[in-house]
Order: sequence, then structure tokens, then C-alpha cells
Amino acid sequence: MLTADERDSRNRGEVSFMNVAIIGTGYVGTVTGACFAELGHNVVCVDIDSRKVDLINAGIPPIHEPELAELLKKHARAGLRATVDYNDAIPSSDIAFICVGTPSDEDGRIDLSIVRSASESIGDALKLADRDSYHVVVVKSTVVPGTTENVVAPLVRGERDDVGIAMNPEFLREGKAVYDFMNPDKIVIGGDPRSAGMVARLYEKIPCKATLTDIRTAEMIKYANNSFLATKISYANEIGNICKKLEIDVYEVMSAIGKDFRISEHFLNAGAGFGGSCFPKDVKALIGKAEELGYDPLILRAVVRVNEEQPMRMIELLVKQIGDVRGRRIAILGLAFKNDTDDIREARSIPVIRKLLGMGASVAAYDPLAAENMRTVFPDVEYCQSAADALSGADGCLIMTEWDEFRSLDREFDAMNEIVVIDGRRAVSLDRGVYEGICW
Ligand code: NAD
Repeated sequence: MLTADERDSRNRGEVSFMNVAIIGTGYVGTVTGACFAELGHNVVCVDIDSRKVDLINAGIPPIHEPELAELLKKHARAGLRATVDYNDAIPSSDIAFICVGTPSDEDGRIDLSIVRSASESIGDALKLADRDSYHVVVVKSTVVPGTTENVVAPLVRGERDDVGIAMNPEFLREGKAVYDFMNPDKIVIGGDPRSAGMVARLYEKIPCKATLTDIRTAEMIKYANNSFLATKISYANEIGNICKKLEIDVYEVMSAIGKDFRISEHFLNAGAGFGGSCFPKDVKALIGKAEELGYDPLILRAVVRVNEEQPMRMIELLVKQIGDVRGRRIAILGLAFKNDTDDIREARSIPVIRKLLGMGASVAAYDPLAAENMRTVFPDVEYCQSAADALSGADGCLIMTEWDEFRSLDREFDAMNEIVVIDGRRAVSLDRGVYEGICW
């Protein structure tokens, strides 16, 4: 814990490191904590899951993310430690980041129960903090506009009027999270000048000028960002579905329009649709917020609908090729929502496997990282050690994730009963048997 003099001089900007508490050690929290430690700050992570806390203290990442293991190994129990006890982390912190999950409720609207519970725990722990110390609580979780001021602020402040509030949305991509954190194209901070200024100082070693704004705008920037990227993907998929009927290669079309600087080439890969912990729930949360305000968000609704129908097209194409799937062995290559992660949240493989099992197929799946996570969702699937094992004796194959290792698959397909491959990611190219792209 710092002395009052040290704290004052840091608040005047004379000391560049701060005591940072990170609440929630999932993808965002662990990466944020490890990266702030790498930037020279003292970091204490808090999670209610003692397994994750023990892993972090042992220098082992609780999630798979490139470069994270090296950072944790370097900083665990030096600049970074973890605890289940808010009272051990919050009173001595200058800044606390809320990085807990914000899932959808059953209507697709944002479920703020975890944010509320974390905010209450911070508020309780702040009662133990020095009366003359200034604390900032920052919401990094993705929350709909109004949440930070109307839900979080009253709970963390309680009776105290010396707690600053800020909002600092996170834009990292899973699979490249550490790189993205250290090399961001934008840092957005919403809040009053004093609180936002303290947050900006945390990032000062990162060469990216922060966009300073008000809290509700910061919250909205995150939703507008994710919804736009999701829209690009559903747009590419819709054009792809039309191209498929016209026998036009949508990848050629998208590659050409991507050269237009107003469009850009990114997020135009047509395929089985988007998944992950963010796009699906964030688009739905924005729809929910718009409805609450009496506005019908037509584009956002269409984005979700295209995305939900897309994986079902894979099954239609398969059935068109092999007929009834009952009792047939179907190989699923790729379970994670994208490559280089073990995250299966909202992965497009989930509705596909559910439908295949419902149709009586036997599913043999392979993923380099995500099989263990998927086992908790579908215990009855056969999880294979390699793509070759999954393909062996299969009557059909669906490619659901764009893992690099799938690009070199070739002879492995010869072990299928008959080569019928439906590719949802344009991951392989086959010059024999039946090879069909979902929208090319
Ligand atoms: P996550 O589910 O991986 O992690 C959340 C963590 O919070 C878990 O470890 C959980 O045990 C912990 N937790 C739950 N309740 C708690 C409590 N009361 N106190 C302390 N810890 C608690 O979530 P995530 O993917 O890291 O996402 C966190 C937030 O960041 C979400 O709002 C998400 O939308 C947003 N976000 C995520 C990404 C991403 O790529 N995953 C990117 C940008 C923004």
C-alpha cells in the first residue's frame, strides 16, 4: 500500500504506476491485468472462481490466448496477483476495472446481474478504504448506455462522494488479445476529466491517443463498433447466398469491393456466420435497448436473422448431397467460434451439432483447442484427437472453424466413406469427391 505522499504525487501525475484492481478474470480481465502489469502497474485480480485465482497465482492463464502465458509467468506474484477477496484488492487500489460478463437474458436483453453483484462488492470493500483517498471505478464490461451511471455508480459509491466513475470499453479480439491490448487502434475513455485522466495515465506507455468522451457515448461506441462489424459479416453472407445461386464466387466479389477504402477488406469473409462471446449478444442487447426506447431496429434484426439461418444452410447442403443423416457418421472440423481460441460461446458449430444429433446422426468432432469446452455442451459427441480420426469412416464433413491446420488437409479426406465436404469457412480446397462452400 502506498503512503499518502506517494498517492498524492501519483494523483498529480508524478508517478506513472498505479495500483489496479481487475474484477473478473475471464478473457478481458486476465488480458487487461497481465498487460497493465507489463506496463509497470501493480495489479490485483479478483474472481469468485478460486480455480482461476489459483491458476493466475501460479502464472498459468485460465484461458487460452497467445502471449498470455509468458506475461503471467513473468508477473505472477511480482506485479500481479489474484484473490477471491474484494477487501484484499479494492481498498488499496487506485483504479478498479469491472471486467465481468454481461450475458443476454432469455429475451436477448442485457443481463446486468453480474455487473450489479460486482459493483455491490466493490461498494462494500470501498467502505474499508481510506477516507481521504480517491478511487476510480471503471466499467470495461460491455454495457448498454446508461448502465455505468444509473446502475454501477450508485452501488460502488454508496455514501461516498469521492469515488470517480469512468467507462473504458474493450475492443480486443480473442486469439490476438494481448497484441490488440498493447497495439490498439483506439482507446476510448468516458468520464469526468479527473477520473478519465487517471484512466488515460494507465495507458500512457501505449502509443495511441485516447478518445475522451462522456460515459454514455463510450458505452454506445462499443455497441456501434460491434454491431457494424456483425453487419458486415451478415451482409457478406447475404451477398454470398445470392452469389451461390448465381454460381458466382463471393470471395472474388468481396475481395474487389474490399479495395474500396470506404468499405475495407476486413470482416467480409462469407461463411457460416459469426459467434463468440460478443457479437451475438451485443447486437441483441442493442436491439433490446432500442425496443425499450420505442425504436424498431430493422437492420440489426436482419443481421441476427441472417446469422441464425446461415449454419442451417450447411445442413441443407449436406442433406442435399447425402440424404437422410440418421445413423450416419458426420465429421465436424472446428468447434471454437473462430481459430486460435478455445472459446465456444455462440460458436456456429453448436446449432449445427444440435440439429445433426436431433436428426439422429452420429457426430465425430475435432478441434485443436475447444473439444474439452464443447464436451460440457454435448457429452455424447465423439471427440477425436485429429482431423484424420474424425474423417475416418465419415459419410459427410462440415468445416465450422478456420483453423490453419485444416488448410493443409488433403489425403485425410480419402479415409471418408465417401468424400462429401461442406466448407463453412473456405478453409480447404478439394479437387475430388463433393466439395461445396456454403456460399461459393
Ligand atoms: P468471461 O465470462 O470470460 O469472464 C468473466 C469473469 O468474471 C469470470 O472469470 C467469472 O468467474 C468472473 N465473475 C463473475 N462474477 C463475478 C463477481 N461477482 N466478482 C468477480 N468476478 C466475477 O467474460 P469476458 O469474455 O472476459 O467478457 C467480460 C466483458 O467484456 C463482457 O461484458 C464482454 O462483453 C466484454 N468484452 C469481451 C471481449 C471478448 O473478446 N471476450 C472483448 C471485448 C469486450
